[in-house]
Amino acid sequence: MGIPVFVFAGLLVHCVFLASIFDIYFTSPLVHGMTPQQTPLPPPGKRLVLFVADGLRADSLYELDSNGTSRAPFLRSILENTGSWGISHTRVPTESRPGHVALIAGFYEDVSAVAKGWKENPVEFDSIFNESKYTWSWGSPDILPMFAKGASGDHVYTFCYTAESEDFGAQDAAKLDTWVFDHVKSFFNSSRSNQTLYSALNEEKVVLFLHLLGIDTNGHAHRPNSREYKENIRKVDEGVKEIASMLENFYGNDGKTAFILTSDHGMTDWGSHGAGHPSETLTPLIAWGAGVNYPQRVASQFFEDNFLKEWKLENLKRLDVNQADIAPLMASLIGVPFPLNSVGTLPLEYLNNSAHFKAESMFTNAVQILEQFKVKMTQKKETTLSFLFTPFKPLSDSEQINLLKKTRLYIQQEKYDEAVSLCKTLINLALEGLSYYHTYDRLFLGLSIAMGFVGWTAYVILVIIKTHTNLTKAAQSHDKESTILLYGFAFVGLIIAFFLLIQTCPWTYYVYCLLPVPVWYAVVKELHVIQDLAAYLLSLPVGQSMGFLLICALGIEILVFSFFYRSTLTIGLLVFAGWPVITQLWVQAKTTALIWILLCMLLGIFPLMPVVGREPNIPLVIATGLLTLLISCSSLSSLCKSKNKYMNNEDLKVQFYQMLSIALSTYVVSSTHDSLQNKQGLPVFNQIISWTTLVSSSVLPLLSPTFLFQRLFSILLSLMSTYLLLSTGYEALFPLVLSGLMFVWINMEQEALQQYGLSLKPKLAVFNFSYATDIMQFRQLHLDDVRRSFFFVFFIVTAFFGTGNIASVNSFDPASVYCFLTVFSPFMMGGLLVLKVVIPFVLVSCAFEAVQVTTQLSSKSISHYVLVMSLTIFMMLMNGLAQLLTTKKLELSRKTKHHST
Ligand SMILES: [Zn+2]
Ligand SMILES: [Zn+2]
Repeated sequence: MGIPVFVFAGLLVHCVFLASIFDIYFTSPLVHGMTPQQTPLPPPGKRLVLFVADGLRADSLYELDSNGTSRAPFLRSILENTGSWGISHTRVPTESRPGHVALIAGFYEDVSAVAKGWKENPVEFDSIFNESKYTWSWGSPDILPMFAKGASGDHVYTFCYTAESEDFGAQDAAKLDTWVFDHVKSFFNSSRSNQTLYSALNEEKVVLFLHLLGIDTNGHAHRPNSREYKENIRKVDEGVKEIASMLENFYGNDGKTAFILTSDHGMTDWGSHGAGHPSETLTPLIAWGAGVNYPQRVASQFFEDNFLKEWKLENLKRLDVNQADIAPLMASLIGVPFPLNSVGTLPLEYLNNSAHFKAESMFTNAVQILEQFKVKMTQKKETTLSFLFTPFKPLSDSEQINLLKKTRLYIQQEKYDEAVSLCKTLINLALEGLSYYHTYDRLFLGLSIAMGFVGWTAYVILVIIKTHTNLTKAAQSHDKESTILLYGFAFVGLIIAFFLLIQTCPWTYYVYCLLPVPVWYAVVKELHVIQDLAAYLLSLPVGQSMGFLLICALGIEILVFSFFYRSTLTIGLLVFAGWPVITQLWVQAKTTALIWILLCMLLGIFPLMPVVGREPNIPLVIATGLLTLLISCSSLSSLCKSKNKYMNNEDLKVQFYQMLSIALSTYVVSSTHDSLQNKQGLPVFNQIISWTTLVSSSVLPLLSPTFLFQRLFSILLSLMSTYLLLSTGYEALFPLVLSGLMFVWINMEQEALQQYGLSLKPKLAVFNFSYATDIMQFRQLHLDDVRRSFFFVFFIVTAFFGTGNIASVNSFDPASVYCFLTVFSPFMMGGLLVLKVVIPFVLVSCAFEAVQVTTQLSSKSISHYVLVMSLTIFMMLMNGLAQLLTTKKLELSRKTKHHST
């Protein structure tokens, strides 16, 4: 197999593996084709007002100020005198979109939904808005359109401000909320002179949705402990009070309006959301008005957290719900069908209604969830061979009928409590069954993907051994045998395809299940290499081969663990620090070894630091900028002194520009953060410099000389100027320390070369990348190259996880991109955050390229193999991560359930 074909096959295989993660773990739980279910009894309310205070934490709303008063006096008086209250537990990802979907449509979106479409709606789903007669909504253009789009017909109306007004930096974000309140008021005023609108507003089953983005925006910009965030809560409280009294007036105090106030997610102390910290998953829920229970006084109540005492709410019953339960609650208050895909359970304690109504509503809820279960089961049954189909036993057809009949009977006999508890059993069983069928194919798909994966890894190793070592004898080919082999594998492939065909599987299943066939065919074809390898390993002394295997296993273990515990990287780096001591390098080059040990330990500090963005430290970023300037000054002066004859004025100019750009970046960081602190927004001048730096940093290194260290240093300076602009704290130092270590690494590998006596050792100081290809002579692979590749993979992982930048992409902390833009733009911000993650990766890759050429590894061929191999390891880990992500979610939901009882 030629190298281009090999690389192409590698890319293809990895693309399939990556896609499979989404197909296996992140699939939409939605099914279609259920009939709407509605409670037959008349509802208590005619209209519902839903306030969503985006990014409002439960404790920020309920806690008292230092002087013992509430910062939301109106809402406090509601929960003390007229309504019900509790905490709504959200799920991860704690983002706006999944939060609103859970609230309004009653189901939980997974990570992939956020990845696939931020603003748009990739799947059609039913919602409270869609089931309503009319819905009017006011708020952010990021949230409202997705519910209007999913609705059938023309009865969901949206009023949004422009995306540009969502400025994180300048002015007061509470204006976003004032905008909403003002527009609602003038909308109702205008209806008095508009007869069609007036009568529409007086219909039944009307929903008014007020999306309030100010608190979220202020939380991102100033963090939840800021005066701005708390002041915004006060403003929202006043606004809610005004809207409530305006509506009571408008409808002549008819007592038919129900109110719900909640939020889509909370926010961490450092102003981000997305993950599963309690500050992000605990949101407030206050309900009052038509059909809602009055406050229930209790002598004592127990919750695992200690909030009640802190909030002085020990004696008012706290009613916790899961976020999706709010959708059925809203549906039952105004008598619309439960959203078809809702998995919420009606929180009965919030209802002020007859026991009969509660039992009927609960029955409707159970039937509605059972409908989904039945559709899902039918789908699975249709696409599986009947003798292979294993149904969900606890909820067989007869059991369903039995449970439904019993409940009906209880309701007829007015045994409402028994009916309700049977409904709850039915709901739990149906939900379990839903997830059973949802993950039905997971094991089978996972196994075939694993087969393909192991096969591919084995094949890559075999090819490397075959082409780059002298372990194997010349390949002997037996035409007859290989023909039989080919037919054999083709036959297996046909059988698999036949099975998939009669089960009418989706086309992606063919890819996943058929991929292992050609891969393993390729492996089996190289059987003689395996035989030779085994013979070689057996010829080695037992201790040596065992020790080698042990080190390999340990190395991989460290890599795997570092994906879950960043501090494992520190352990790895400490082991690396011992490398020159264990080998003879220490004797050979004392100074280099000493610097290596120091830098390893220094880099080992980073994984122990908190995730980026939690503790901003702008002075440290500025200090790093100055340090970089100092280092480049000294390198410049040493260059001038040495009077390198290959240097010319042009090269000096390039380095001067790069130093200038570092200085400018440092200035921009400091001035931007000052200006934001003073609420003057992002100065246009700074913004221009930031973007210019970003563009120029990709061009400038190409103008610098191609001598090894000069080129690498130039790359570092350019990337550093961009990285500084994206930094908010200690992480600014990371690329600096990392490249320091990389420079020493290149030197150390030179020294290591001498250990197995390579005569042609290039002089690093005058080594030139552009001539490297000419002087390259082919060298056989050595056992030390395995260590070298491992170092590379380990440094790559360190570059990715060393500072926890990945976590900041996940929680979408915009503080890192303030020098570039302050207007909310998910794609732009996401792109910049990814760039920040990629910069250390580029530094390590460049260093590895240098190591390859200076250690006379044929960089063209071997690096492809190493890249494919490290990709394989990376993908394996991603797979593990995805598995962890999904299982962790299951645990979380169980915990929440326990919490609410
Ligand atoms: Zn939000
Ligand atoms: Zn947010």
